[in-house]
Amino acid sequence: MNDTRSLKTQNGAFRRFDAHVHTAASPDSDMPPALAIETLARQGLGCIFTEHLDYNKSIDHFMFDADLYPETYHRFRSDTVRIGIELGMNPDFEAENRAWLARYPWDFVLGAVHWFDAEGGDTYAHKAEIYAQWGDAAYGRYLRFARDMVERYGDVIDAFAHIDYPRRVLPLPERDLDTFAEEYDALFRALAERDIRLEVNTRRLAEPGAADHWVDLLHRFRAAGGRRVTVGSDSHEPTHLGYMYKTALRMIEATDLQL
Ligand SMILES: [Zn+2]
Ligand SMILES: [Zn+2]
Repeated sequence: MNDTRSLKTQNGAFRRFDAHVHTAASPDSDMPPALAIETLARQGLGCIFTEHLDYNKSIDHFMFDADLYPETYHRFRSDTVRIGIELGMNPDFEAENRAWLARYPWDFVLGAVHWFDAEGGDTYAHKAEIYAQWGDAAYGRYLRFARDMVERYGDVIDAFAHIDYPRRVLPLPERDLDTFAEEYDALFRALAERDIRLEVNTRRLAEPGAADHWVDLLHRFRAAGGRRVTVGSDSHEPTHLGYMYKTALRMIEATDLQL
């Protein structure tokens, strides 16, 4: 793992990939993989498939169709098409996760946190209870849990996905860098120390205040020693592929970070 050499061009620069793409191999998408590749190629972007592997204690395991993925996608593999995985990082299914990681030479492992409450329940499925219990403090819990998971899975992940995930699900304020400065810094340091990339997840970039908050986050990541990022649209359908990629590149340049 952490074989980010495979993402480099011959002169050593990093290619421009949409590094977070779900297709028909995932339970929440029916996008044909060839369509994803073609659509991104027209935008001058490579494609990293990151199909879901997400064990869970409160709903069905949310994972790729093991008959389809990764083997049948292998035929697409090239310099501009990589076979990756979005790994749901959690303490309870580490053995299962690591068994999957060992089963295939993944090009890219995108570490994600989709649940973080004490019971290990899915955040989306339990959003009402989580918000009733924790309110805005839920974000601090998420960041602390994410830091713990980066420490646990730091040897296998290449990038950390959608740091703003709880905001997709819970009615949290957009700007919280002051409230959770300590938690953000601890997570960013954990990533930077291991040379794990922070994903610039473009899915919420157009929401009010989100782009400004992302720029603040990237500055903070840089100040904590972070150097490298990825850009991921988190697409599940063709129209979203490469979403706001150029905006993300401008933000990365403005904050002195690198792909
Ligand atoms: Zn995710
Ligand atoms: Zn995803």
